[in-house]
Amino acid sequence: MIMNRHLAVVVAALVAAFLAFAPCAGAQRVVRPLPAIDSASLWNTLGALSADSMEGRRMGTRGSAAARALLVRRLAGAGLVPLAPGYVRSFEVKMRDTSVHEGVNVLAMVRGADTSRVIVVSAHYDHLGVRDGQVFHGADDNASGTAAVLTLAESYARHAPRHSMIFAFFDGEESGLRGARAFVAAPPLPLARVAADVNLDMVARLDKNEIYAAGASPYPFFKPLLEATAAVSPVKLILGHDTDARGPRENWIQQSDQGAFYAAGVPFVYFGVEDHPDYHRPTDDFAKVNAARYVGAVRTIAEFVRRLDQSLDSVVPARTAR
Ligand SMILES: [Zn+2]
Repeated sequence: MIMNRHLAVVVAALVAAFLAFAPCAGAQRVVRPLPAIDSASLWNTLGALSADSMEGRRMGTRGSAAARALLVRRLAGAGLVPLAPGYVRSFEVKMRDTSVHEGVNVLAMVRGADTSRVIVVSAHYDHLGVRDGQVFHGADDNASGTAAVLTLAESYARHAPRHSMIFAFFDGEESGLRGARAFVAAPPLPLARVAADVNLDMVARLDKNEIYAAGASPYPFFKPLLEATAAVSPVKLILGHDTDARGPRENWIQQSDQGAFYAAGVPFVYFGVEDHPDYHRPTDDFAKVNAARYVGAVRTIAEFVRRLDQSLDSVVPARTAR
């Protein structure tokens, strides 16, 4: 297995190197370069968020606070607008056993030229913590989405988008989409002004070089944008997992934070991979992630966000408050 993984990494690196120079070789297919993302920073951030020192980032723990400190330091350093004092907004979580916990969302914004409607780009930063002395690293779930959203936030802070963007790092997803529900229950701006949520959860483990985009079934206006993105993606982007056609378990709408936006009538696109053998196990760790594929997935999502921002007004219908 280890041999195969090394081989896969080498092959992926060779393919990436070939693709980088391919435009010189054949001029038939002109491919626009995907948005530049700081792939070294992305990779280092994934490593930091899934390290032992983050103790699995469970809501209400020291590890959660450590992850939050990293996010806040980076957002402040990049000059993002805080949407709450110190970027953090806490919320109450009543558990089934009637105990009450505190969750903390991290919320930042970059103003665009057009501030009338915003795009929310979100990921949950919490995971399962430490159980029986074992750290559940949650590298894929969801240090991967968190690092990607942070990298996008830093990128848009340098080059402002057309429409304002909120970068939301939700807590308590693993306890039932708690942070996202708290966000839509008390949003930092009227929900009718949130044009869409782009949610990332498990975007690193492209074991079959595939990633899914859910949302085009309930919101068909996203389909052309997603198909155009898929056409230039270095990984296989597949639309689906957003109906009950293959059974309710294969419908992912309620399986991550986009479920809270959907319930509130906010259109969403969710990006993520299918479950893998390390899902919700301590072995969901950094060493299992193929860098080239992860970077490819994040560049693909960045390209979708870029297209959505550029064409938002013609693509996503305006909604009135409900
Ligand atoms: Zn998750």
